[in-house]
Amino acid sequence: MNDWRMELAIDLARRGRNGLRRRLYPRSAIPFPYFDLHGKQLINFAANDYLGLSTHPKVVSALAAGAWRWGAGAGASHLLSGHTQVHADFEQALADFLGTERSLLFSSGYQANLAVIGALADRRDSVIEDYLNHASLIDAARLSGARLLRYAHADVEAARKRLLQASGRRLLVTDGVFSMDGDLAPVVALGRLAEETDALLIVDDAHGFGVVGESGRGVARLPGVPARVLAAQIVTLGKGMGVVGAAVAGDEILIDTLINHGRSYIYTTALPPALAEALLVALEVLREETWRQIRVAEHVERFRSRALAVGMHLADSKTPIQPVMIGSVTQTMTLSARLEQRGFYVPAIRPPTVPQGTARLRVSLSAAHETGMIDALVQALAEENERLDSSAP
Ligand SMILES: *Cc1c(COP(=O)(O)O)cnc(C)c1O
Repeated sequence: MNDWRMELAIDLARRGRNGLRRRLYPRSAIPFPYFDLHGKQLINFAANDYLGLSTHPKVVSALAAGAWRWGAGAGASHLLSGHTQVHADFEQALADFLGTERSLLFSSGYQANLAVIGALADRRDSVIEDYLNHASLIDAARLSGARLLRYAHADVEAARKRLLQASGRRLLVTDGVFSMDGDLAPVVALGRLAEETDALLIVDDAHGFGVVGESGRGVARLPGVPARVLAAQIVTLGKGMGVVGAAVAGDEILIDTLINHGRSYIYTTALPPALAEALLVALEVLREETWRQIRVAEHVERFRSRALAVGMHLADSKTPIQPVMIGSVTQTMTLSARLEQRGFYVPAIRPPTVPQGTARLRVSLSAAHETGMIDALVQALAEENERLDSSAP
């Protein structure tokens, strides 16, 4: 082995010893909310498919029919010849739904974030971000060359201080729903702050779109967020929408700027049109089958009240992301393994993904879950937690 391979192998071995080595587990095609791991069928509490749309017959049929109509791929980038009428139709339908002038489709949220921040900020500018923002927003700021200033999680006064230190164009950027905690950004206060300080507000609504706000329009559309300062709302389409991709919603000027300056928009193959067909139908289903939002909200209520009643510590979250706070890394790992033995897939989230001492189980709920699955999960959690307590020294 030459040197670089040796160095990489040493790094991976170190990660392994510290219990931090990441591995892939290919699942089979058993549909959500089931899941299989190591040959055992489990109930999946680790997916972002909050409304169960990934397996919706109308969405799946639209994808299949779309592939027969358009072929498997777009064949080129949007600006070359990859942009189709169905991309445009979806963008218009989404803009109408969100109440913006326009929207622009991307193949992923990661790319959308790179484009938005990269097109709006350069080295003369400042990007002000919550400490717990998604990695793609941090990377986007770094890549833009702008000055990156971070503020303590959800702390509007800390954000104000950062804004006062900032120069050039100032982008105030936040996740709508924080992915490891499930809490909402203080968007109304951030919006007012952006208004007072003449900054642009950018909300990444990856985990909010489809489940938060009126008809699932997202955290950015909650009442009280000043429309004038909301420069961009990013919605991802692989989570609540159950498909893949992302869209940026905003006004005409913003979208035109992304088309002209968004490098991760310009230099990449367009999303396959068949997927845009599936997205168009998924958006229709989202608007029509409002029972899905109601059902996942009921699951959240039920999970919380039952888990609290049996003494579990929950994070302050009203979204389908429901962290069960454990604290100790080994206890969290043990609980996750025991839940797996009992038929539930609930991942353990450990430092450095979350701060020291806040290891947790991350439960993701979906309208695709049956009520009985939620009850069974809480019961198993309570029993296994009890076993931990009684075996503790
Ligand atoms: C998942 C996620 C993304 C990335 O979206 P993809 O479409 O999966 O690339 C971006 N931002 C946040 C906040 C996310 O949770």
